Amino acid sequence: MAPGEGYDILLDALRRRPGWMSDAACRGLPTEAFFPPPGYRGHLERSRGAEGLAVCSSCPVAGPCAAYASEEGLEGIYGATTTAERRTIRRRGAA
Ligand code: SF4
Repeated sequence: MAPGEGYDILLDALRRRPGWMSDAACRGLPTEAFFPPPGYRGHLERSRGAEGLAVCSSCPVAGPCAAYASEEGLEGIYGATTTAERRTIRRRGAA
């Protein structure tokens, strides 16, 4: 990677950030609460991510956040849903 290239990538990502992210209830919070370690899937992801899910439950942008995470195939707690829950919602929507 050329000097300054990482900076350009970061700036580009920031420019493309959806506007709703500025209203996120999780801004400034530690990310660990939203990303259970590998191996915590299904109901384990929900129990291990309880702290993050609690923050999401009062977040004003939970709807667009969950939709964004689903569209992007992101893993972790987003929009008061776990990775597995979003996959299930996607499958049901595709049926
Ligand atoms: S729904 Fe949860 S993960 Fe999404 S922006 Fe709000 S607090 Fe953050």
